[in-house]
Amino acid sequence: MALNKSMHPRNRYKDKPPDFAYLAAKYPEFQQHVQTSLVGRPVINFKEPEAVRALTCTLLKEDFGLTIEIPLERLIPTVPLRLNYIHWVEDLIDGQKQLRRGIDIGTGASCIYPLLGATMNGWYFLATEVDDICFDYAKKNVEQNNLSDLIKVVKVPKKTLLMDALKEETEIVYDFCMCNPPFFANQLEAKGVNSRNSRRPPPSSVNTGGVTEIMAEGGELEFVKRIIHDSLQLKKRLRWYSCMLGKKCSLAPLKEELRKQGVPKVTYTEFCQGRTMRWALAWSFYDDVIVPSPPSKKRKLEKARKPLSFTLPEAGLKELQTKASALGCAGGCPVESVTSLLEKSLTELRVLFKHAPCRKQEQSLFLTAVENTWIHGRQRRREQKRQLRELPRAPQSASLQNTAATTAPCPSTSDCNTKVNVQVAGSPEQNCQTQPVKREAPKEQIEPESDHMNKVNTSTDTVMDTSPKEGLTTENDSPLQLLSSHGAVSQFLFKCLLNVMLEEKDVLVELHWVEGQNKDLMNQLCTYLKNTLLRSVAR
Ligand code: SAH
Repeated sequence: MALNKSMHPRNRYKDKPPDFAYLAAKYPEFQQHVQTSLVGRPVINFKEPEAVRALTCTLLKEDFGLTIEIPLERLIPTVPLRLNYIHWVEDLIDGQKQLRRGIDIGTGASCIYPLLGATMNGWYFLATEVDDICFDYAKKNVEQNNLSDLIKVVKVPKKTLLMDALKEETEIVYDFCMCNPPFFANQLEAKGVNSRNSRRPPPSSVNTGGVTEIMAEGGELEFVKRIIHDSLQLKKRLRWYSCMLGKKCSLAPLKEELRKQGVPKVTYTEFCQGRTMRWALAWSFYDDVIVPSPPSKKRKLEKARKPLSFTLPEAGLKELQTKASALGCAGGCPVESVTSLLEKSLTELRVLFKHAPCRKQEQSLFLTAVENTWIHGRQRRREQKRQLRELPRAPQSASLQNTAATTAPCPSTSDCNTKVNVQVAGSPEQNCQTQPVKREAPKEQIEPESDHMNKVNTSTDTVMDTSPKEGLTTENDSPLQLLSSHGAVSQFLFKCLLNVMLEEKDVLVELHWVEGQNKDLMNQLCTYLKNTLLRSVAR
């Protein structure tokens, strides 16, 4: 995975890493730490605290106009990683450019989160700290940037987290709290023993930071549990509670803790900068908060929404049009011709289809596949073997029926206008020319993890009776055994939306997943349709 992928999309460094040469030319104190690599690139040594500090101070100055001082013996924050967290908080509270109140638990010497949040978004911060040195520096950093009106740094006793910091202000509702907790439980963990996979290389950057900063009893797990505990008492005094985590393995037990405590809204994310990964967890007791999707779900959703597609290049379209009109489908435009040819293939395959509403100059078919008629002999036998292996106790009759279905000849149709006119889910057939609506399948139907996916009868490939006499070929021979009393297809392999449209001078065919057993089946059908169309051009 490209590591920048899990940088927040709004992170200014996502696709534009700091330009060391430029910064070195502009900032002499930074230039001292820049070396030239073997391939002639300007680099800095991330194992040297002085170099890391120089980079952080330079970036804060150059990109945010902030002047800060940090002692070498305290944690030196890296700016891109801290920005990720700020942007995620923006997502949580919908808080860009609005007056919002936040708490930074353990602000550190740099006071980096409040400085960034106040400068970028005008947020008000209550910043807490236990360590004297950090507290003094943090205060100074706020003052020298003229941000004392927005940032209040408070010294708190060690055992305290949120409760005491909020004791005095009983009226105010804070929008969020954030925290970069001390990650490690002991010196060994801090040195990287236990916390990392032994095959992983040692950390590529130096771990600066004093003992109270990076270590807490029980490590980050206990620290965050204490915040959770406080939140259970404070509940709606804060709209969002959040915490950064240094170890992925902390995520599951903390999510479990929140679940056990019945916290209604929970989400998490991952951040990354170079080779450093971090995770963050957030929870809320409000019902009306925006809950950003966690990254894994987001990736799955993106994948699920992306249609399968293929293009029929302009060069072959004339031939396809001729072919379509020879079959009696005098369509006219390439989109209609391709749609007619696709309808013919679908009819031969006994895939149910109906026209769906779509934009002008497009064609859209709602497909319901009830049996796998497109898989080729050898592939089919392989698939059957695999299924038998995976279902060793499947009833004998089921596999026999399947064999009968797979060897049965497909009823042929010479008329490509023959349509399987099945009402799916009660929606009336509509003329695509007169009903310009959005092309995508309805969202809730595409959602891969929604409940209906599991409710689908998914065993049709092995148990459905699909003898030829019940083949789904014409309006007079409709598959009543497959229709429920509402006219909806009750057993199917999958449903998808097939769109045909012009893309410049080519024709683009897209298949959008709706629901069903498994997307490989749609993939196979897509390949089959593509090959059939391309073969007819090649001939
Ligand atoms: N927020 C800074 C510093 C994180 S290090 C950054 O991201 O760079 C963690 C900080 O929490 C340390 O400065 C440590 O002194 C402070 N800390 C530890 N226990 C605390 C507590 N109970 N309350 C407030 N701060 C605490």
